[in-house]
Amino acid sequence: MTALAELHVHLEGTAPPDLIRRLADRNGIPVPDGVFDGPDRFKWVDFLDFLRTYDRAATVIRTAEDYRDVTYEYLVSCARQGAIYVELLVSPDHAQSVGLPPSEQQAGVAQGIDDARRDAGIEARIVLVAVRNFGVQAAIDIAQSHAGERHPYIVGFNLAGDEAGYPPAQFAPAYEIASRAGLGCTVHAGEHAGAGSVREALTLPVTRLSHGVRAVEDPALVQDIADRGIVLEACPTSNVATQVFPSYEEHPLRRLYEAGVKVTLGSDDPPYFGASIGGEYAVARERLGFGEGELESLTRTAIEASFADDALKRALLKRMTAKDGRSNL
Ligand SMILES: [Zn+2]
Repeated sequence: MTALAELHVHLEGTAPPDLIRRLADRNGIPVPDGVFDGPDRFKWVDFLDFLRTYDRAATVIRTAEDYRDVTYEYLVSCARQGAIYVELLVSPDHAQSVGLPPSEQQAGVAQGIDDARRDAGIEARIVLVAVRNFGVQAAIDIAQSHAGERHPYIVGFNLAGDEAGYPPAQFAPAYEIASRAGLGCTVHAGEHAGAGSVREALTLPVTRLSHGVRAVEDPALVQDIADRGIVLEACPTSNVATQVFPSYEEHPLRRLYEAGVKVTLGSDDPPYFGASIGGEYAVARERLGFGEGELESLTRTAIEASFADDALKRALLKRMTAKDGRSNL
């Protein structure tokens, strides 16, 4: 089986109900009402409701140690599934909303990355994510405050949240700052809004799109994305769970791949959608018609399109082909 790599997963959204409960207990606070729907399920009915549940559950993640634990537990679980690299979307807004300075949040995440590397041999980096519903100025503030000195694991900038309500182009000033500061740029688009939103997103200085799959609604746009080598961080299970597409069979991943678009696989918010990085590769293999060599090409694309530095990319690519997968890191 090929090694796995993931470019699209929201850190706060990786914590399963059990971990959310443990963190709430440790912090001496109750889990907010309306978060759970049974012992091992989050409660949400549609995409905007999912965002609200996500925000409420994330309020129990309060300290650097909490962020370390969320990061560590997720990365170790990915390593068990065969992943060698994960880019974690980390939201300074969520830390700030519970009074944790983003620098402490990032130190906790970095500790989790270091500990997971030591114990499970997996590598990871941080992509900062701004929440579009918090407005343009909040996104500019995140980009601005990381434009100078920042933790060396911070490699990228993204924008998530309510795509339909907050279209991408207005965030251009934040992207200009992030791009000029040397951060790799990607943006959520083509998920809960259509091809027009993807076109608009492509006016930003991005090399990747988080989702981007609704580009399929416009063949000329698909061609443009293929020609420009823009990489889609696709999350089929997330898209089926939030009803962007009614079934895996109707998911356009295969069509986009065959049209020459570079695609990768991500779990997005794993316990909310019943997803995992290993599960996404299994879906691609079993439901979407990808062969082993094609799956390997998805991992290669993910590593090449990652925002990690070249030395780490080379080590990861070498590790993909090594018999003893851990020897090169
Ligand atoms: Zn996402």
